[in-house]
Amino acid sequence: MSEHHPEKRYEGKAKILYSTADPDVLLTYFKDDATAFNAQKKGTIQGKGEMNCTIAAALLQWLETQGIPTHFIEQTKADEMLVKAVKILPVEVVVRNIAAGSLCKQTGLAQGTVLPQPLVEFYLKDDDLGDPLLTRDRLMLLQIVTAEQLARLQDYALRINGLMQGFFARCQITLVDFKIEFGTDKTGTILLADEISPDTCRLWDQTETDPNLRVMDKDRFRQDLGNIENAYQTVQARVLAQVQQLQSLA
Ligand code: C5P
Repeated sequence: MSEHHPEKRYEGKAKILYSTADPDVLLTYFKDDATAFNAQKKGTIQGKGEMNCTIAAALLQWLETQGIPTHFIEQTKADEMLVKAVKILPVEVVVRNIAAGSLCKQTGLAQGTVLPQPLVEFYLKDDDLGDPLLTRDRLMLLQIVTAEQLARLQDYALRINGLMQGFFARCQITLVDFKIEFGTDKTGTILLADEISPDTCRLWDQTETDPNLRVMDKDRFRQDLGNIENAYQTVQARVLAQVQQLQSLA
């Protein structure tokens, strides 16, 4: 049998997807590259690929044990994981617990306002259009998802939020908001895909009160707050410790 030569299937801003010998399995490589504001700001965060891969692997694996179907198979290297091949739905699902970022910009809500209930939003995954916020009707109009899939995405998003809020609270971290993506496998089953990491979440350290010091996520890069590597490292350490603790209780 001839050896499989991995082929680059897709390169995004923070990850590269390669084929494997199994057409149903892809290899995800996590880069140190960082971008913000639709790639207008670019940089490198030393060790980010390894940290995000490790954090995402731990969270996806844990969510799977909590009944959320994900694309995660196995972390094979510090910055590489095997995932199930899926067709990514061109929609970014954002869940917010506390007002920050574009929600404040677009609504005038003060940063830090605790929302009375989690807010689920859908954005079109289209860099050329600047990932616009979609209404449900626009989602249906563009035939991005069926009504049934939309209901499922909303349900998963809220369940994942509830699980992650609890998980991060035990890490003494407040889950402010996050972005997730979903894909469909060859049977049409919806799986949680992409990554969950400090690149895709807003995470505030509950042991810090200073509004700049408490930031443990990509806002440190977006706002030039410095100490990015340390922040990601702390998230990784707390997430892994929490996973270990949960495993020892199981
Ligand atoms: O910028 P905004 O406030 O809409 O971001 C909400 C959440 O989604 C943040 O946690 C941010 O890091 C994440 N996000 C992302 N990728 C995008 C847009 C937002 O991970 N393209």
